[in-house]
Amino acid sequence: MAYTYDDQNIFAKILRGEVPNATVLETEHSLAFHDISEQAPAHVLVIPKGAYVTYDHFATQASDAEIIDFTHAVGQVCQMTSISPDRGGGYRMISNAGPDGVQEVPHMHVHILGGRMLGRMLGRMQ
Ligand code: AMP
Repeated sequence: MAYTYDDQNIFAKILRGEVPNATVLETEHSLAFHDISEQAPAHVLVIPKGAYVTYDHFATQASDAEIIDFTHAVGQVCQMTSISPDRGGGYRMISNAGPDGVQEVPHMHVHILGGRMLGRMLGRMQ
């Protein structure tokens, strides 16, 4: 089934400049900004500028240039926020997708979280 992109989502509004954001990094195809409801000392969202709903949508439909740009942006954010493990810390990258992934904003994004011990990834299956 094809994805349908809702251009009224909050990240689309950020990309159009209709809603402010705390930008960490802007590149040709990507934008990184602080999550408004941070869950760790470093909590940055990285989004592509293109109209992609989920990570799999982006990974299958985006151009090589967009994917390369996004990947570099993630790496730069980890370096800029000093959470890269090469400095002794660490981080977790999460991309929530769809109802089971509890995705709130239907514009592809990854969360990069760090700056504290994050604990185990998931609880055990019930
Ligand atoms: P999710 O779609 O569940 O992966 O999470 C969406 C994330 O977007 C949440 O962590 C929100 O706190 C964050 N968020 C929602 N609106 C804004 C905004 N205007 N600026 C920055 N982050 C936002």
